[in-house]
Amino acid sequence: MKTIGLLGGMSWESTATYYRVINERVRDALGPLHSAPLIMHSFNFQQVVDMQKAGDWDGASELLGKAAKGLQDAGADTVLICTNTMHIIAEQVQSHIDIPLLHIADSLAVKMRRSGLKAAGLLGTQFTMEQPFYADRLKNYHLEVVVPEEAERKMVHQIIFEELCCGVIKDSSKRVYQEIIAQLESKGADSIVLGCTEIGLLIREEDCTLPVFDTAIFHAEAAADFCMEECLGQKNG
Ligand code: GLU
Repeated sequence: MKTIGLLGGMSWESTATYYRVINERVRDALGPLHSAPLIMHSFNFQQVVDMQKAGDWDGASELLGKAAKGLQDAGADTVLICTNTMHIIAEQVQSHIDIPLLHIADSLAVKMRRSGLKAAGLLGTQFTMEQPFYADRLKNYHLEVVVPEEAERKMVHQIIFEELCCGVIKDSSKRVYQEIIAQLESKGADSIVLGCTEIGLLIREEDCTLPVFDTAIFHAEAAADFCMEECLGQKNG
């Protein structure tokens, strides 16, 4: 099996989801005692948040890039940035390593293309909803992106950093998200993208009237499939 490298801790609440989903997928495919060869570099999230707030993307590129190189040197065959937001510097991180970086928006786009849905109602941090790096990547797959209005984008962002990344899950915040999801539907979204790796802790498929795409799950599954590629080939071949 190949070895997965995770850049985690952004926040650790969602990195825990990655660890569980990757290992469950490997177990389900290969047998009950199989698990994924995996190496993680887990950051102090406060340090990353401070860089986001200061707009210090060069510093963040250096921090994540060096960590990615460390994973490569330790034997990883791929690297995942376990957050949507930090894909803002995906290219810079990739430039530090020779192994492939599995991009979170690619894992999402593949699933959306398969479903036939085209207009993603995007929920994430303000960086992800407002800066072009994410929507542009989806546009390459001929997918449209619908985002909430400014006041709602602020609320979504605030709930991510003040609650979900701190392990706080509130019914009142779920209702706020559900109202925003209804607005996205009225703006033409045919699906809801949980474009922040912690939102799946608050919002589930059954909470929405539209199909839900959880980026943390798809990204983790893509990692598991990458690591099992050769074994599954042998098993099926
Ligand atoms: N995990 C979140 C995301 O997927 C937000 C944390 C961050 O700012 O990296 O965007």
